[in-house]
Amino acid sequence: MKTRSFKIFSVLVSLFLLVTAAFTATPVYAAKTKSQLQNEINQLRSEQKANQKKINSLKNDINKQQELKDAIMQQMALVSKEIDACNRQINEVNAKIAANKAEIKQKNAEIEKTKLAFKKRLRAIYMSNTNSNVQVLLGADDFAQFLELSQLTASVAAKDKKMIEEIVAAVKLLEEKQAENNTLLEEQMTIKNTIIQKQNALAEQNNEIQAIISKLNSSKGSLESANQTKDAQINQKYADMAEIDRASSGGGSIDYDGGPFLWPASGRISAYYKSNDSVHNGNHNGVDIAAPFGTKIMAISDGVVKEIRNSCPHNYGKRSNCCGNGYGNYVIIDHGKGSDGKIYVAWYAHMQSVAVSPGQTIKRGQIIGYVGSTGFSTGAHLHFGLKVNGGWVDPMSYYTKVK
Ligand SMILES: [Zn+2]
Ligand SMILES: [Zn+2]
Repeated sequence: MKTRSFKIFSVLVSLFLLVTAAFTATPVYAAKTKSQLQNEINQLRSEQKANQKKINSLKNDINKQQELKDAIMQQMALVSKEIDACNRQINEVNAKIAANKAEIKQKNAEIEKTKLAFKKRLRAIYMSNTNSNVQVLLGADDFAQFLELSQLTASVAAKDKKMIEEIVAAVKLLEEKQAENNTLLEEQMTIKNTIIQKQNALAEQNNEIQAIISKLNSSKGSLESANQTKDAQINQKYADMAEIDRASSGGGSIDYDGGPFLWPASGRISAYYKSNDSVHNGNHNGVDIAAPFGTKIMAISDGVVKEIRNSCPHNYGKRSNCCGNGYGNYVIIDHGKGSDGKIYVAWYAHMQSVAVSPGQTIKRGQIIGYVGSTGFSTGAHLHFGLKVNGGWVDPMSYYTKVK
């Protein structure tokens, strides 16, 4: 009983593993038809369009915010100028205050000097006179009291008294001026504080707008990267579609021979002349020979190199035109007049690298480059085009035997 149920279990397990293996071994692209892939591409494209609409509207919002920000920056520049002017005035007033202070100090020193001379004279009077008023006067500490007392003193010389009074008046004037200066300074400080408050408010506004701009930019950035991801997905789906085309056009390598020309590269034909597949849509002016990167490409006949391009670095599958009008790195060889009197020129395109240079004489079978996927190419292949008397022809009509 126990053994039997284990057997059933293990059969189920191996069945499950078999089914799983069958599924995992199947390539993803084969699970979808070309029209399914095309529908998915269309869906992605419409999502991209919707995203682009949002991106454009975000760009608009960002520009508006940027304009606001610019206006605030201009105001901030003005305010900063106002503060500079304010500071200049404050410095002027401070200089006046300092000058006044120095003058007051000097005047006070003059008063002290006059007072000293006055006291000396009083002392001389005192020596010869026992006037009690003079004694009182000399004992006075406070200057105001001293003046008051001196007014009472008949012995004080009117000239000295007048001199001191003048100096005191001058000091009083200076002190009044100083009070005015202090008021001016306070006013300027008040103005400056008001401007600084304005400046702070502007800075705050500026920060708020910057935060909005950053937020808008990050929304825009994520939409843009979403669209880039969709681009990659679309490219992948096109590559999958091309792969389906290749798979349906037959398996292994087929080389053609027997005609007037040598077959240019070993590989399998992935698209014929005027192919109506999803990549070419009936506009194919040559034959595509799918082959691994680096496969040798040979001249189909003797000739002279007319033109080359060897500067496209984009050697990978893509569905966009990067270089050389879509041909990427290519070689054009003038194979000269055929026995029919017509001029034959061949195009060898999408090379990984070119092995010849313009004007070079070429022998039939000579290596002229290596298979790649430069230019508009979804995968490694040689695009082989043939012009007869300047017009594209189907190269296959010059190859008869299949080897
Ligand atoms: Zn390129
Ligand atoms: Zn082609």
